[in-house]
Amino acid sequence: AMGLRDEQTMIARRAALLGPAYRLFYERPLHLVRGAGVWLFDPQENAYLDAYNNVACVGHSHPRVVSAIAAQAGTLATHTRYLHTAPLDYAERVLGTLPGAIDRMMFTCTGSEANDLALRIAKMATGGTGVVVTQTAYHGVTEAVAAFSPSLCLPGGVPPHVRTVPAPCAYRSAGDPAMRFAADVSAAFEDMKHCGVTPAVFICDSVFSSDGILDGPAGLIAPAVLAAREAGALYVADEVQAGFGRTGDAMWGFQRHHVVPDIVTMGKPMGNGYPVAGLAARADLIDTFGQNVRYFNTFGGNPVAMAAAGAVLDVLEDEGLMDNARDTGLYLKNRLSEIMSRHTVIGDVRGAGLFIGLEIVKDRREKTADPARAVAIVNAMRDRRVLISASGTSGNVLKIRPPLVFSKADADLLADTLIDVLGNLD
Ligand code: PMP
Repeated sequence: AMGLRDEQTMIARRAALLGPAYRLFYERPLHLVRGAGVWLFDPQENAYLDAYNNVACVGHSHPRVVSAIAAQAGTLATHTRYLHTAPLDYAERVLGTLPGAIDRMMFTCTGSEANDLALRIAKMATGGTGVVVTQTAYHGVTEAVAAFSPSLCLPGGVPPHVRTVPAPCAYRSAGDPAMRFAADVSAAFEDMKHCGVTPAVFICDSVFSSDGILDGPAGLIAPAVLAAREAGALYVADEVQAGFGRTGDAMWGFQRHHVVPDIVTMGKPMGNGYPVAGLAARADLIDTFGQNVRYFNTFGGNPVAMAAAGAVLDVLEDEGLMDNARDTGLYLKNRLSEIMSRHTVIGDVRGAGLFIGLEIVKDRREKTADPARAVAIVNAMRDRRVLISASGTSGNVLKIRPPLVFSKADADLLADTLIDVLGNLD
């Protein structure tokens, strides 16, 4: 069996072989060898409750997804320069869940590539280059997308064609967060234009995950979208984290905000772990792009990826997972709110469906962020074999984002473990 010594060896091998760009979770990094449903297992077969991974949205190693992948891999694995029904059938299904105006789809392998493609499409449609994003946003790893992912803390900050605005936080905002957000977006585009940069994109994660999980109130994004369009930019809804039913009330996070995006990007949960991502957009945008650019993505939309993605949609429907996200999410949020009433370090409990954030603060009146305590809680939870993380502009928001098959018993285990952890920290 593997022990602590082996873990130290693996950490050293990682450093030697992969270099320092890769970061591990937790003070005591976790070696995982197997997953099933909401459970992850270390080499000693200890079970960890996964309350963090949204990629495995229908549960780790779901048998229907695994067998769909295996069957297609054993039949045909080519690319989109041959005719195949799989990407067509899948596009029809996904477009059926989106507003009618969004009627074309393109496939990539990662969310980063989807956002990169969205930027290319928007640049061509607007003739601009300027991007407005939230202060701690993350949208991906390509050079173009990393430039508007300020959470990466790039050396030198964001480049001149990018402007950041504070995310709309109902907990901390003085006044109406939606109106403030719109005013900030408008001012950012105005400033950009004064500097000779033409607007192209307003992009936001529909739950503002890296900005601290800001789910509402409903309609939160709508005035900012209007402001962006007035400035001549397109609105890109990044659904890489919020999408595929996680928020419990709708298939897509933006739907709660009564907006119709120009482009919707998606990824992570789309293939339950198989790399598949893409975007959906209005036909006029995709056609303008496609008439000028030949786009071939070797693995994007390949039949194996489509088999995985199709099986995910089947399971989401057949197991009623969006409803479970709503019901279990509400149950968990109520339990956490009850814990908040007895622990002053929790300043706010918020979230939609199975995407929940807890503000860890030094004091409730000043709402002073306490990232050190948030990290201590995350590590103490890990030591008790419940996996969560922290996010937010100050890194003090506990991030709870489990597979959508999370049950009320799982929610109880999470809540009871948190009670134990808080009791020991206080
Ligand atoms: N957008 C958001 C909101 C994300 O959270 C991520 C991944 N964390 C991405 C885009 C990039 O996706 P990928 O890692 O698949 O490139």
